[in-house]
Amino acid sequence: MPYALRPSELAFLLSLDDRAEQQELYAAAYEVKLRHTGNLVSLRGLIEMGNVCAKNCFYCGIRSGNKKVERFQLSLDEIENMALTAYRNNYGSVVLQAGEIESEARTEFVEEALRRIMKLSDGKLGVTLSLGEQTKSVYRRWREAGARRYLLRIESSTEAFYKMLHPSSHSYRRRRRCLELLRELDYQVGSGVMVGLPGQTVGQLVHDIRFFRSADLDMIGMGPYLPHPDTPLGRDIAFTPEYRAKQLASGLKMIAVTRLYLHDVNIASTTALQALAPGGREAGLLAGANVIMPNITDAGHRKNYNLYVNKPDADNDLLIENITAAGERINWGESGDSAHYFSRRLPR
Ligand code: SAH
Ligand code: SF4
Repeated sequence: MPYALRPSELAFLLSLDDRAEQQELYAAAYEVKLRHTGNLVSLRGLIEMGNVCAKNCFYCGIRSGNKKVERFQLSLDEIENMALTAYRNNYGSVVLQAGEIESEARTEFVEEALRRIMKLSDGKLGVTLSLGEQTKSVYRRWREAGARRYLLRIESSTEAFYKMLHPSSHSYRRRRRCLELLRELDYQVGSGVMVGLPGQTVGQLVHDIRFFRSADLDMIGMGPYLPHPDTPLGRDIAFTPEYRAKQLASGLKMIAVTRLYLHDVNIASTTALQALAPGGREAGLLAGANVIMPNITDAGHRKNYNLYVNKPDADNDLLIENITAAGERINWGESGDSAHYFSRRLPR
């Protein structure tokens, strides 16, 4: 059993605010990443499938209560074309993400999208779903139709804080239960939190990191919280340069400390980092992340999928150039499964 950092040590590292010390932390996490996953970066083409959502999370720009949003839903043909582009460009995998809808029509739609993606790639393209809370039978149908991985962020593992971030109709227990169901169905399971939420404490982030371990997650997707002016949580927050720098550092520290604690999981360097600074995602890779999700949704629809403001334009060729220039190698054509998933399935 490798040495595990104690809660007080996790808290200490997450609290570092000296720039040079933060850089040392990122470098240490990068070393751990090199030992466990090498300098290989897996790509997941992100397809933002639709912004219709039944939920009303207090932080999210496409919450159902935001009437300013123009709602859209991609067609099956559009999704198929985007996935085909990812496949031809050798990305190795895609993510289908959308607002949360629970209905038979949605279930069948996603099943059909999965069948088409499996067909166009001979089953080779890895597919991650990020479609919120569903029943076990829905998760099973999507697994059987070809999905291998599922991302469902816990948002905060502290139940009392989770309740402050969501209306009372949302259930922390159900979200936890959904993560268990996904595991029972043999998905590679991903979760994560937003970092730098108003009212969030270092103690809660330590709790989150320890939760990632106790839930035995395969993938972690985290990003800094970005205030959206049309949401209850974000409306009064000024998006100043100082605020941005702080959020960026909080996001990077959380990636680094998670890598130091969990070693072999896949960790995504998310677009939210890029929204705070050019090169934010590359910085995430150098702080311990090993997955990048280039947005492959066409620009017309992308502009309506604003979970947060300041979402960067997608220049995926430049992104890939920058990643290579930073000394990383792209895991071309591979679906980039989580090493942790395979090690936890070995007989012990
Ligand atoms: N509806 C699905 C998937 C789409 S939302 C779900 O909620 O699981 C994907 C993620 O975007 C959420 O899990 C949340 O962590 C993140 N997100 C939403 N609003 C955000 C904001 N203002 N800043 C940063 N991340 C945000
Ligand atoms: Fe809907 Fe997901 Fe946004 Fe919550 S975070 S409002 S579930 S899209």
